[in-house]
Amino acid sequence: MSSQVEIILLGTGGGRFATITQKRRTAGIRIIGNGLNMHLDPGPGALVYSVSEGFDPQKLNAVFVSHSHPDHYVDAEVLIEAMTRGMTRKRGVLAASRSVLSGNDVCESSISKYHQQMPEERIEAMPNMKFKVGNFNVLVTEARHTDPDTVGFRFETLESGDFAYTSDTEYFEGIGKYYEGVRLLILCVMRPAGKPWKGHMTTNDAIKIIEETHPEQAVLTHFGMQMIFKGPAREAKLIEEKTGIPTIAAVDGMLIAFGETINGQRKARRTQQDLNKFF
Ligand SMILES: [Zn+2]
Ligand SMILES: [Zn+2]
Repeated sequence: MSSQVEIILLGTGGGRFATITQKRRTAGIRIIGNGLNMHLDPGPGALVYSVSEGFDPQKLNAVFVSHSHPDHYVDAEVLIEAMTRGMTRKRGVLAASRSVLSGNDVCESSISKYHQQMPEERIEAMPNMKFKVGNFNVLVTEARHTDPDTVGFRFETLESGDFAYTSDTEYFEGIGKYYEGVRLLILCVMRPAGKPWKGHMTTNDAIKIIEETHPEQAVLTHFGMQMIFKGPAREAKLIEEKTGIPTIAAVDGMLIAFGETINGQRKARRTQQDLNKFF
């Protein structure tokens, strides 16, 4: 199917301690298809796991960074170097929050000027903005997080509908409207139920967002240490029971095939032919 998009969860960890310990990888998400080969939120490990899982970073034509925290931006510069063929060709798109490109009251910019001028296009992603990348229309969604410029992204395909990524955010009134009608919703659920933390998403927040948006499939990722110890699969089951929406906790290396149907496979690795069905 030509319109099928592959979403590869190269990493599923988030937050300081999951990053430091690498209990879960922090390599972010690769999205391939519809004229796009994109890395979304390349935290530490994005380069290494791209290469080791068989996703050549030199094939990238877009790098997206949702905000200025290390688990989201650390490998962005090396991926830009790969995308621009070692900084020899102006190539690809860099879309990132204002904080990442220019800094704000709480941080400096997280990608150097040298790296920012090499992609063909540099997009400062602000909530409600729309732009095109590959054959996707992208809507920038609002997030409320400790970096006030944090954004999420919603990708619209012509033939198969939309999928979206919330990035780090707490629940807020109105968040649901950004994700209404998406078929696949990828949520950064840092914390388990009953462990609220300002600016971050818990299982309870995810339930509220899913109840407001009714996706066909919800996928949880970006697990912090408390979530990892609690068991992301258990939390996913809790969400599914509460909302009635099929919900899965991502595992490192999982591939989601997004087309007419949405299928999850346990191993993305390009060289492995016998992929196991995951959902
Ligand atoms: Zn994070
Ligand atoms: Zn963050």
